[in-house]
Amino acid sequence: MESAEIARRFLRFFEERGHTVVPSASLIAEDPTLLLVPAGMVPFKPYFLGQQKPPFKRATSVQKCVRTPDIDEVGKTTRHATFFQMLGNFSFGDYFKEQAIPLAWELLTKPESEGGFGFPADRLWVTVYHDDDEAYRIWHDEVGVPAEHIQRRGLEDNYWHMGVPGPGGPCTEIYYDRGPEYGRDGGPVADENRYLEVWNNVFMQFQLGAVRSKTDFDVAGELPARSVDTGMGLERMAAILQGVDNIYEIDTTYKILDRAAELTRTRYGRDERADVSLRVVADHVRTSVMLVADGVLPSNEGRGYVLRRILRRAVRNLRLLGAGEERYMHELTAVTIAVMGELYPELKADAPQIHAVIDAEEASFLGTLRTGTAIFDAAVEETKRKGRGTLGGDQAFQLHDTYGFPIDLTLEMASEQGLKVDEEGFRRLMKEQRDRAKADAAAKKTGNADISVFGRILEKTGKVDFLGYDQVTAEAQ
Ligand code: ATP
Ligand code: MG
Ligand code: MG
Ligand code: MG
Repeated sequence: MESAEIARRFLRFFEERGHTVVPSASLIAEDPTLLLVPAGMVPFKPYFLGQQKPPFKRATSVQKCVRTPDIDEVGKTTRHATFFQMLGNFSFGDYFKEQAIPLAWELLTKPESEGGFGFPADRLWVTVYHDDDEAYRIWHDEVGVPAEHIQRRGLEDNYWHMGVPGPGGPCTEIYYDRGPEYGRDGGPVADENRYLEVWNNVFMQFQLGAVRSKTDFDVAGELPARSVDTGMGLERMAAILQGVDNIYEIDTTYKILDRAAELTRTRYGRDERADVSLRVVADHVRTSVMLVADGVLPSNEGRGYVLRRILRRAVRNLRLLGAGEERYMHELTAVTIAVMGELYPELKADAPQIHAVIDAEEASFLGTLRTGTAIFDAAVEETKRKGRGTLGGDQAFQLHDTYGFPIDLTLEMASEQGLKVDEEGFRRLMKEQRDRAKADAAAKKTGNADISVFGRILEKTGKVDFLGYDQVTAEAQ
């Protein structure tokens, strides 16, 4: 079943059950607490919080999502992409657990010939929040899932929130057993590679206050109404329904991967390191195209930096595959626009602009690599000659300051050489440089210092809170 058909089926199923089909919002979040949209519920957040009255009680959507915190998993696990699409059904103070759970089950197990996804019931496992007896009872008594296939889990896995003050609540997740060739028996608790998480049903019930981590947060109170927010990964469904090993081999992504292999004369499936690079390239080119199409431009901060980092990682991985000085991003972008253009026709209309942005960033980064790599190699050589395992903070700083190497690039390249980097030393030098610049600027001014800049910095750092990882790297720029 093609990706586009999976999306159509999902929307049709819920539309037939009283849900309004809502088009995907832009990846650029309107929500000021987020840089990019990481989940299908984001555009509906004001409805969950009771800040706005929803124009419908039930909705369904295919939302474009970007999750930068998953970047290091890409290509290494079978299931993490930086860009993916979340299929969702939502209830705003309408139905709750008693309907959401049977609806999800019905769609997954309904035969393909009747508009469902045709999963055999005995391949499915579910998890519930440890004290959510109601969800357990519905799964067990109403739906008929045997007790051996229902597992209870804690806050880490079965409680969903946005990482910032907002709506949240316990969730129940549905997993597909890919079989013993993918790992150990024992359900999702034992092995999340074998048991692939496909669908999360969140029961939005609480207003969260301060959120310190995934498992450490304050509950400020109950939401004005009980709501449902669900998210099913389109790419994970496609991997199962297309019978492929991982989400980089599905219809939409494999064409990009295959072209990258052809261009770099690499055979996919021969060497694990090269395979990881090919998956990274396919994933990152796809994410870059979708971000640029939504109006993100490469820059050194915020979402522009997310794009820059992803694009540059794609270019670097092409080099690891032997691309040398060749520029392949144009062709890979063209393939991506062709495959993703089926679901997003605007990509075809905007193709010239998308190419222009990506081509320019590739050219500038190849220039950076050309000058910086020799310096980097010399630093590695010196470190190894001295019998050390860590590249100096001053070396990382020089690479950044003089040659434009972002710290995450230095970290990645060093780790490929089996070396660590003195990040603390690097950050200290960065801070010293910033302090010097500030002092210079203040000295240039007469009278009172302009403190509005601190307000702006605060605003900016506040915004990247959700993507903790990016905050660090964006700052390190
Ligand atoms: P995992 O535990 O596998 O990282 P998750 O629990 O973080 O997934 P949720 O936040 O529950 O994921 O998101 C809902 C659904 O979106 C998941 O069940 C999955 O199908 C899909 N999904 C989440 N993250 C990704 C990703 N990085 N790439 C592709 N699909 C994803
Ligand atoms: Mg995750
Ligand atoms: Mg999970
Ligand atoms: Mg989940």
